[in-house]
Amino acid sequence: MMGDKRLVLMVTDQNGSFHINVSMIFRQLSLYFLLFILAIVLFVGISISAFNTEIKDINTKTILIEKQYQKMLKKNLYLNDQISQRLEEITLAGDRVNDLEGVVGVNKEDELTNNDDLLTRIDLASITGAQKAFVMKFIPNGHPLSHFRRISAGFGNRMHPILHILHKHTGLDFSTEINTPIYATADGVVDFAANGWNGGYGKLVKIAHSFGFKTYYAHLNTIAVKNGEFVKKGQIIAYSGNSGVSTGPHLHYEVRFLNQPLNPIHFVRWDMKNFNSIFEKERTIAWHSLLTTINNLMGQEKQDQPQLSLLGPS
Ligand SMILES: [Zn+2]
Repeated sequence: MMGDKRLVLMVTDQNGSFHINVSMIFRQLSLYFLLFILAIVLFVGISISAFNTEIKDINTKTILIEKQYQKMLKKNLYLNDQISQRLEEITLAGDRVNDLEGVVGVNKEDELTNNDDLLTRIDLASITGAQKAFVMKFIPNGHPLSHFRRISAGFGNRMHPILHILHKHTGLDFSTEINTPIYATADGVVDFAANGWNGGYGKLVKIAHSFGFKTYYAHLNTIAVKNGEFVKKGQIIAYSGNSGVSTGPHLHYEVRFLNQPLNPIHFVRWDMKNFNSIFEKERTIAWHSLLTTINNLMGQEKQDQPQLSLLGPS
């Protein structure tokens, strides 16, 4: 056997001699080697477990980041949706301005001077109480709601409170608490009644009145009428809300003539006591022609009676 063949080195110097047992050195060396290997194994083991915990950490971090990414993605989608909605509204607002220019733009100044002529041709004194009552029943007038906090936005150019762009506000805003009853401002037929976005109007009712008038009631909470339903002046048609593009509970009220938005304030302030005010304030309408038509209608109703004279000498 190898173990038995002992190699003994004898070293001799001036002080004497000593022996070195080579086999002993091998044994010691192999012991050290074993220890060294053990140390390496231990080190590798510790390192692997350390790596493992780090990998776990990274995994949890990855999951967290994934979650955050999903959140951001959702937010991004939401924002994109909002942007497309805003764009839609801007396009709609643009269309409205174009509509308005199309109707009003033609000979606006001529119309104004003509209307001055027309005013002098309407014999205001000859309009009877019955005629006034007829007009006040069929043409929008008065408030569309019994009470409100204040008029929060008038008609005309303004900075949009949400879009922050200059645009034409096509109606009048009555700031009021949610569920304030909303009344039809004249007899008519419901032309549109729908929940939903409606181009920013939110829940919206449109009423078509006689002689080309229309009224819009927007940002409603609940609608009390159906499409095609005939309504009377003063009838509850809806309850106010905060739907659509709205910065707070309010009623957006529009008065339109041949789809062209007019300043509703003149119609809101119009009543029996100041019956003539509308002819001066709202000059885009051919009142003379309208009053003649109404006069003729009432004349037909009372065929036996002589026709009421509405017009003065022209
Ligand atoms: Zn408004």
